[in-house]
Amino acid sequence: MRLFFGLDPLAGDKRAIDSWRQRVATADGRPVPPANFHLTLAFLGEVDERHLEALCDTVDDLALPGTGELRLDRVGYWPRPGILWIGPAAPQPALESLAGDLGRAGQAVGARRERRRFVPHLTLYRGCRVPPPAPAEPPDLPFRFRGVTLFESRRGRDGIRYEPVAAWEGGGFSQR
Ligand code: ATP
Ligand code: MG
Repeated sequence: MRLFFGLDPLAGDKRAIDSWRQRVATADGRPVPPANFHLTLAFLGEVDERHLEALCDTVDDLALPGTGELRLDRVGYWPRPGILWIGPAAPQPALESLAGDLGRAGQAVGARRERRRFVPHLTLYRGCRVPPPAPAEPPDLPFRFRGVTLFESRRGRDGIRYEPVAAWEGGGFSQR
């Protein structure tokens, strides 16, 4: 199964991000459906389902955030994947260390190691071929989340979907 750890914004925040995007952020790429808005903490890639329990046990022992709020007030563009994104302008040392811990939990069950620097971001468009213009109005959007979610990335008839497999909310654990 293809897995990643991420933060799942509140539904209302997803809607607000989508309406800001519709209003001012244009690009020639594919818009990410609002239901798929997320912030990736650690991408594990393919993990054998038999390792899921061990993975969750490792994460149970980490210090995880209960609820949290970020402010998305920065726009970024990565030309090679053609990704337009928004993220927090302020440094996020707590998220960075959390991302490192979750990445190591993944490595313990065979996931490969992430070499790229962690950049907290929420993807708005993929597959852009032309650098998008700067949005007419800069973002200043809340991103509120509850705990950490382990997602399975599934490709279906209607495109990609992220299914929560497990969630650690307010320190507690629930198997989805
Ligand atoms: P698609 O691959 O069809 O464009 P996607 O990128 O949304 O869709 P996944 O490739 O399963 O779906 O990725 C899930 C999440 O993990 C996304 O946030 C993606 O940006 C991130 N991700 C995917 N591959 C990597 C990677 N090699 N390193 C870091 N993050 C990755
Ligand atoms: Mg991908």
